[in-house]
Amino acid sequence: MGVERTQVAIIGAGPAGLLLGRLLSRAGIDAVILEARSREYVEARIRAGVLEQGTVDVLHAAGVADRLDREGLRHGGIYLSFDGARHHIPMEELTGGRSVTVYGQTEVVKDLIAARLAEEKPLRFDAPVARIEDFDGDGPARLHYRHDEAEHELHADVIAGCDGFHGVSRETVAAQVRIWERTYPFAWLGILVDGAPATDELIYARHPAGFSLYSMRSPTVSRLYLQVAPDESMENWSEDRIWSELHARQDGDGFTVNEGPITEASVTPMRSFVAAPMRHGNLFLAGDAAHIVPPTGAKGLNLAAADVTVLAQALAARFREGDDGPLETYSDRCLARVWRAQHFSWWMTTMLHRDPAEDAYGAELALSQLRYVVSSRAQATALAENYVGLPLERTVAAEVARG
Ligand SMILES: Cc1cc2nc3c(=O)[nH]c(=O)nc-3n(C[C@H](O)[C@H](O)[C@H](O)COP(=O)(O)OP(=O)(O)OC[C@H]3O[C@@H](n4cnc5c(N)ncnc54)[C@H](O)[C@@H]3O)c2cc1C
Repeated sequence: MGVERTQVAIIGAGPAGLLLGRLLSRAGIDAVILEARSREYVEARIRAGVLEQGTVDVLHAAGVADRLDREGLRHGGIYLSFDGARHHIPMEELTGGRSVTVYGQTEVVKDLIAARLAEEKPLRFDAPVARIEDFDGDGPARLHYRHDEAEHELHADVIAGCDGFHGVSRETVAAQVRIWERTYPFAWLGILVDGAPATDELIYARHPAGFSLYSMRSPTVSRLYLQVAPDESMENWSEDRIWSELHARQDGDGFTVNEGPITEASVTPMRSFVAAPMRHGNLFLAGDAAHIVPPTGAKGLNLAAADVTVLAQALAARFREGDDGPLETYSDRCLARVWRAQHFSWWMTTMLHRDPAEDAYGAELALSQLRYVVSSRAQATALAENYVGLPLERTVAAEVARG
């Protein structure tokens, strides 16, 4: 058994853990990143793909945006499709020039891993953390993990729990967190298609048969989603059925889905979840470890990036200036942004999906909301500024104003 000492132990090499590691190394703070899965697995995990302006800005500041600049697709708007018509929401115009960038989470993760390995900073794959101890005292926290067929111990001043929804960090403080949660009576069936997208911007469609989304990952790879039952099995969905359902829900108003070879298909359940506080002594939760949103608002990855940006700044204040003030407010400052994203993601989800238990009255309310969004500049602006992401300062300022 080996014992090692570091300033920050980061559990998880998803977007949150890897970006935190990068921001800390730029600030001259030592960190060790421990990841349960293999590098190949982490780099191939298909998930989010829409980056807020603020996330792109942070990746720039972290010096890991060269490929993002070359390959990312800048989008200044989205389409909302319902009642047989498509409506454009010009987000860039409505938000004074802010936009989103389509660039796969897999690519963000690959860029961050490459940067960390190039710096020769510790990043261990196949190293699951089993236990966290002594995170609430004055001494170093202790973390137990397995790597290379041996048990190891890591001592750290601070532990960053960036280990996602099923990780060990939140489980460790399960008795001390309050949970707010909502599950939805539907899931998303997502397909990755080897073929150019038929649209220049994302199309969010509400249809009597259910929600669908036409998205993309690059000029040659499309990503499409269908609302399905929460317990849906992929076995029930032949390629023919997937395409015929996508045509039914998306085609119209001069637009047709273009088909291509499906390279990946999976069903993702939808959930809203918040665990607070996000700080427990020297253990800090970040990203999916603390909160989950349904993907309709494209917020999951962006919230993870925002959390670790706040955490990196606060850790720099502690380690470089001996100032613990920013760490004291870490949880509240993150949660202000988290709850805004929770509301936006819930709002987009309920407006665009068909709840199987919904009565005719509920369906008309959702349609009325959609018609209002596409006919009122104020409503369209509210959607746009949340979608491109509120500047970090705005939510921090709101928190300060609340006292
Ligand atoms: C199937 C799926 C599809 C998604 N699609 C979208 C989408 O379309 N749009 C969107 O905006 N968001 C989407 N999301 C959400 C988005 O991907 C997440 O919000 C984002 O990955 C959060 O990053 P994270 O680093 O906090 O967590 P994760 O990416 O989950 O990373 C956590 C890491 O910790 C590791 N880990 C766990 N336990 C341990 C342990 N004990 N020891 C060491 N390591 C551990 C895990 O292996 C993982 O690599 C999706 C999520 C899922 C699950």
